[in-house]
Amino acid sequence: MWAWWNGKFIDKDTPVIRLEDRGLTFGDGLFEVIRTIDGRLLFYDEHMQRMVQSAACFHLELQPGPEALRGIALELINRNQIRDGELYLELTRGVDPMRGHRLPPAGTPPTLFLLAHPLRPIDPVAWSRGAAVFTFPDLRHGYCEHKTLNLLHNVLAKNFAFDRGGYDALMFREDATGRYVTEGGSSSYFCARDGVVITPALENILPGITRRKVIDLALARGMTVREERLYLEQLWQADEVFLASTVSKVMPVARIDERTWPAPGPVTRALTEAFEELFRRQLFE
Ligand code: PLP
Repeated sequence: MWAWWNGKFIDKDTPVIRLEDRGLTFGDGLFEVIRTIDGRLLFYDEHMQRMVQSAACFHLELQPGPEALRGIALELINRNQIRDGELYLELTRGVDPMRGHRLPPAGTPPTLFLLAHPLRPIDPVAWSRGAAVFTFPDLRHGYCEHKTLNLLHNVLAKNFAFDRGGYDALMFREDATGRYVTEGGSSSYFCARDGVVITPALENILPGITRRKVIDLALARGMTVREERLYLEQLWQADEVFLASTVSKVMPVARIDERTWPAPGPVTRALTEAFEELFRRQLFE
């Protein structure tokens, strides 16, 4: 398998990452995961726009830029003969022998690499009968709207769910009113009540690319969509719950902790079909 690292295609197992890379020592960097199908990159522009905005926010340099990277990414998935897969991009602040908190001198070259894998295996029953998810406190930092490398808490949250036979965590924070949903370890949440779709507002959560697509598809179908604080108490009253991400697409949720829902419900089914259609259309664009 090939990878692309700092300007060249290399064998993916070549030991190129330096121990003093700030991505390793500080988690000082960003990443993206993009779905690839039949030699195509799905929603590439949206993913790269998110990375470019975050890179600007943290003064990270993304070089080469999105247009040149598109060609590199396409060549990589072609070299690895990936049909249904995932493209992973990682950008770090580069090698810093001082390992100081002070940012390295201007001109320190960032580290940028791309991997292309086949899609990770997902039990199809999760799509047909719904996933189980488990609530977990969201103890993360205040930069959750960026796809940073600081994923320790997401890993802990997801493993809390895996240990219970679940698919993902459902993280929550708390205010004076009660506990409210933020997101999963790697997914965005939605619920539907009386045909109205509700999803957590973008308050220190990732602006998921799939989340945005699902909202737009729901609006285009005349549904009402509310982006607001979504309390667990509201969730317990919901008719349907589902999650969304690049890898999971739209996935019904059949169980949260000990509570269960009929899954997939009609709204989830309609949005799954709409998303699949959008997905297929991308392949022929
Ligand atoms: N929230 C978190 C924390 C994630 O890591 C992800 C994806 O990995 C998502 C939401 C879903 O985002 P997207 O639809 O862009 O894949």
